[in-house]
Amino acid sequence: MSFFDNFPVVLFVELHIYNTVVLTDICFATRGHECSRSTRQEFSATGDSPYHFADSGLSKVYLVGIKYWRCECGQEVAEIPAIKQLLKLIARDIVEKPFALTGEEIRFLRKRLGKKQSDFATQIGIEVETMSRIENGHVKPSKRTDKLVRFYYAFASKDPVLLGQLQKGIDERFTTWQRIMPPTKIVATVAGNEWTADLVAAS
Ligand SMILES: [Zn+2]
Repeated sequence: MSFFDNFPVVLFVELHIYNTVVLTDICFATRGHECSRSTRQEFSATGDSPYHFADSGLSKVYLVGIKYWRCECGQEVAEIPAIKQLLKLIARDIVEKPFALTGEEIRFLRKRLGKKQSDFATQIGIEVETMSRIENGHVKPSKRTDKLVRFYYAFASKDPVLLGQLQKGIDERFTTWQRIMPPTKIVATVAGNEWTADLVAAS
C-alpha cells in the first residue's frame, strides 16, 4: 500500500499532493532522514513570493495564497486546496493563450484528459514518435497540431467556458495565434477554496 492510497484525490501520478505529515515520509523515503518541526519551515505563498508549482509538470505556474513547507534538505511540499478546480483553470489558461503551445503544455492537457501519449497522438493524427518529441520539447508542434490539441481538449474536457468559446467561433481567437512565444507565466491565487488563474507576462 502506497501513501497515495491514503489520499482522497490523485489526479495524475506525477502530481504529488502532499501535506506536512507526508513531507516527513518523503524525506524519510528519499533522503533517509526524519523531517520534523525543527527541520521544516512553513511559508505562505504571496504575490511577491509565490510558490513554484513544479509538480504540475509545467515550468511556469506559480501559486499564491497557499501554505508550503520546506525541509532543511530542500524538499518542499505544498498544501493545495481545490486542486481539481486549479488544474482545470490552468488548462483553460493554456487553451486560451494566443501563443503557440509548448510541449509541456500539450503534455499537461493530455494528462488532464487521462490519455496515454500513444492514444492521444493517434487521435490528433500524428505519429507517436512525433508526439513524444513534441512533449519533450525537441520538436515544435505544427500550427495544425496546436489547434487540434486545443479543440480536442475543449471538447473532451467539456469545460463550459471553452465550449462556449467554440460556439462563439473560437477560430477567431486563433487568428491571433503567433509562432513567437513571449515569456508568460500562469499565476493562480486561492481565496478560501476558490481559485483564479491568469496568464501574465513573465518579468
Ligand atoms: Zn528533509
